[in-house]
Amino acid sequence: MELVLPKIPHILSLNKTEMFEILNSIVSKSYRIKQIQDWIYFKKVIDFKQMTNIPQDLIVKLEQNFLSYLPEVSDIQISSDKTKKFLIKLFDGEYIEMVLMPGKKKNTLCISSQVGCSRKCQFCATAKLGLIRNLKIEELLMQIMLVYKYFPDINLTNIVLMGMGEPLDNYENVISFLKIIQDPTAYAFSGRRVTVSTCGVIPQIMKLADSGIKVKLAVSLNSAIDFKRSIIMPVNDIYNLSELKKSLFYFRKKSAFRITFEYIMIENFNMGNEDIKALVKFCGDISCKINLIKWNAVKGLDWKSPSDEQVLDFINKLSHIPAAITLRNSRGQDINGACGQLAGNCYDNCK
Ligand code: SF4
Repeated sequence: MELVLPKIPHILSLNKTEMFEILNSIVSKSYRIKQIQDWIYFKKVIDFKQMTNIPQDLIVKLEQNFLSYLPEVSDIQISSDKTKKFLIKLFDGEYIEMVLMPGKKKNTLCISSQVGCSRKCQFCATAKLGLIRNLKIEELLMQIMLVYKYFPDINLTNIVLMGMGEPLDNYENVISFLKIIQDPTAYAFSGRRVTVSTCGVIPQIMKLADSGIKVKLAVSLNSAIDFKRSIIMPVNDIYNLSELKKSLFYFRKKSAFRITFEYIMIENFNMGNEDIKALVKFCGDISCKINLIKWNAVKGLDWKSPSDEQVLDFINKLSHIPAAITLRNSRGQDINGACGQLAGNCYDNCK
């Protein structure tokens, strides 16, 4: 049975000004607004009953005017490298996953933007679900709040929208979310600590460039040859490499940050000499860095991961490219939490 939520806003769906306006209409003493917003933005507490300096009568009013629930976490798997994968049950019974990657200098949360995805990338477990729905603004922010609920001592430094879904296909909600988390008087994640990853949805890349929002952009490239990219990423049939490149030049003109290209290395597919030549040509004249990632096995997909020797050989052959090249350790592989693996468990266990 579908749960019907009351028609009042979730506290996490509002930016600071919108929240202020509603709070202002229900509090009798204006300093209470700052107290409530301090709980939310700095102590990361949204359960009004836990706001110990707020009087009971105001707590009742807050509960009458805002939703403040967090979704249920059905499971947290912890990888040998300390990566933590959360399986989250949303209010309507749908599931998403998010991945927390603790590090020495930074703690990164990889969040989901959609339940499923429509883009059909052939290396991706989420693609098997198809698109079920977009996540709401509050469902994007709830993922951050859940980290603080389950790991209150963590200092979350970086957010990447690289989990389930194509963030730019949920453009309006993602933009509202970015504005909320980047507000320097609220959660204060600066642009260099937030990355939006896309498979290459050109109109939305241009819109994001024009939006004035400062974020890093990561593009899932995986081949710089059109017909090959189309095989693993059908989005390339709509937005080909040459058009993608133009949009990235446009984005780069408006952004202080280099573009990041993600390149999943697949044996006998995108690691040959012609692939290297095409990659050098595609990336050679744009300020960028390239993250190389070994293909992570996904149940039901037949691609093969390259050996360490093949990876080294590939990197050596790319070494004259002006871009910085990083071999990214795929974290959380043993819990299916690495790149392209999200939704694997969810798909098997919950559907
Ligand atoms: S890689 Fe990203 S865009 Fe492609 S199907 Fe998976 S979630 Fe969607």
